[in-house]
Amino acid sequence: MSQLQAILDYQEADRELYAIERELSSSEERKKYVTLKKFWDSAPEKLDAMEAKAAAFKAEAEALIKRYEQVEATISDFENFEELVSDGADISFYRKKAQSVSEQLKKVKAEINALTANIKAADEEYQKLKKQVISAKKQLVAAKEAYEAVKASKADKKAEIEKKLQAFVGKIDEAAMAKYQAKRKEKVFPVFVELYGNRCSACSMDLPLVACSKLEGGNVIECDHCHRFIYKK
Ligand SMILES: [Zn+2]
Repeated sequence: MSQLQAILDYQEADRELYAIERELSSSEERKKYVTLKKFWDSAPEKLDAMEAKAAAFKAEAEALIKRYEQVEATISDFENFEELVSDGADISFYRKKAQSVSEQLKKVKAEINALTANIKAADEEYQKLKKQVISAKKQLVAAKEAYEAVKASKADKKAEIEKKLQAFVGKIDEAAMAKYQAKRKEKVFPVFVELYGNRCSACSMDLPLVACSKLEGGNVIECDHCHRFIYKK
C-alpha cells in the first residue's frame, strides 16, 4: 500500500473520531461547563481587585479624617475671639478666616458624600459577585457532571475508533503523520483532499498548472488558501 493510500485510509477512519470530538466540543454541556469554569477561575482575581478597592477607600477615608482634624484645629483660633476683638484685632481678618474654614468644611463634606456613594456602589458590586460565586459553585458541579456524562456516552465509540487507528502504526511515515496531526490539531479536516479538475476540492481554489504537475507520482502540495494537502489519485 502506498504511503498516500495508507494516510487516506487513516483519515477515513479518523473522520468519525474527529466528528465525535467536534460534537463534544460544541455541545451545550461543554459550553455551559467552560463558561462557569472561566467565571469560577476568575473569581479570586475579581475578589482581589475588590479588596484593593476597599483598601483604597480606607486610605481615602483616613485622609479625609486628617483634613477634617486640620480644619477643626483652625477653629480653635476663634476660641479667644472676644478677647482678641477687645484688644483691637482686625475683625475682617477673622471674617475671612471663618469663610475659608466654612469653604474647607463644605469641600470635606462633598468628598465624604462622594466616598460614601463609591463605597455603597462597591458594596453592591461585592454582594452581587458573592451571590454569583455561590450560585456558580453549585452550577459548576452539575455542569461538570453533565459534560462528563456526555463524554462518557461517546467513550466506547471513541475507544473503538482509536483502536482502529492504532492498527496504522508503522504503516505511515512518522513525519507525514506528524504533519497530519498538526493540521488536525488546527481543526483543518479533512487534512488530505483530492484535486478536482485543477482546483482544491475543499475550497475550490484554482491551482497553477505547475502546481498540479507536482502532484504526479503520489506527491502532495499544500493549498495556499485552505492549507489542506492536495493529492491526485
Ligand atoms: Zn484549498
